[in-house]
Parts: sequence; C-alpha cells; structure tokens
Amino acid sequence: MSTPVIGVLALQGDVREHLVALAAADAVARPVRRAEELAEIDGLVIPGGESTTMSKLAITFGLLEPLRERVRAGLPTYGTCAGMIMVADKILDGRDDQETVGGIDMIVRRNAFGRQNESFEAAVDIAGIGSGPVEGVFIRAPWVESVGGEVDVLATHQGHIVAVRQGDVLATSFHPELTGDHRVHRFFVEMVQRA
Ligand code: GLN
Repeated sequence: MSTPVIGVLALQGDVREHLVALAAADAVARPVRRAEELAEIDGLVIPGGESTTMSKLAITFGLLEPLRERVRAGLPTYGTCAGMIMVADKILDGRDDQETVGGIDMIVRRNAFGRQNESFEAAVDIAGIGSGPVEGVFIRAPWVESVGGEVDVLATHQGHIVAVRQGDVLATSFHPELTGDHRVHRFFVEMVQRA
C-alpha cells in the first residue's frame, strides 16, 4: 500500500489536530462521521476528548456496532486518551451507561492521573519508536490497569502503563497530536501500511 487513507472519528474531540498530524506522517486523512465511511478507510484514529460524550454520540449516530465490527475485522486503529478508553475491552470509573468499541484486551481507568488541573507533560520512551522519548501530553488522562496476554506494553510512566498495542490496535494515554512530533503517527501509518 502506498499512501493509506486514515479516518479520524469525528464525533467529538481533537479531530483537526489528528488530521494535521496524519497528513504530516504521509497519510491521506479524513474525518469519519457515518458508518458508510468506515468502508473507505485503511485505518482509523479515535481522538482525545471526552469518552462519555463520544460513546453517547456513537450510539446516537448508529456508529457503535459498525465500529465494533470493523475493528474486530482487523481495521488498524489508534486511540489517544479518550480514544484509548474507546478501544479498551473494559473500563473503570466510566459512566454507568458508557460503551466502548473495544479491540484491546485491557482494563483502562478513566481520569486516573487526576482531573484537568492535574494535567502534565512528561518524557515517555515508547518501544519501537527511536530517536529518544516523545513529549507526553497528559490531560485528565487514563492509564491501563491491566492487560491480557496478547497485549504488548509499549510505555509506562511512573509505573503505570500508558501505551499498548494488540495486533493492529494501538493506544496511548497521552496526545502526540498536540506536540508537532509526528513519530507516533508515523509509527501508526506504518502499521496501517503493513496490515
Ligand atoms: N478524561 C477524558 C475521558 O474520560 C479523556 C481526556 C482526554 O481525552 N484528554 O474521556
């Protein structure tokens, strides 16, 4: 595959920043709002934002089941922050009616690092991404409490898991789309190309 087409789930959240980062990482990037559009993409990013709202909108727009099916069928997917919550098979501290797409056999705790005023930046070393650590921007970020046997842990911060991969599904607690460093997006684009 030469230039993959990567959709950004555009229900809510920092969609525009991912579109810019994906284009900088040599993908064709486009927003995805309708189930039909899932058939036209080679990969999908689920952005940061608010996972409770994203869950609600995915149900309202009839996207939840199509997303689940597409991810289950192998669509390479990358979730950042709220997106990490969306690709978790199980979550803690979610709303009672909150649904996820799933895709990674892990338990993710929402707002684990604290509320908005506890947002922070930290250097994060990610397995498979060379040239030094990335600048991790954590905003009311989740962390991964535990993972199943098929999941690779790619990064930790202060003993907590903050980046994981299972097959073609990738997730980070932090927001590489906000930094201007496109190495994580490039890593995902290469995952999509190899898939
Ligand atoms: N705390 C948010 C949630 O639960 C995630 C925050 C973010 O994406 N920056 O969805």
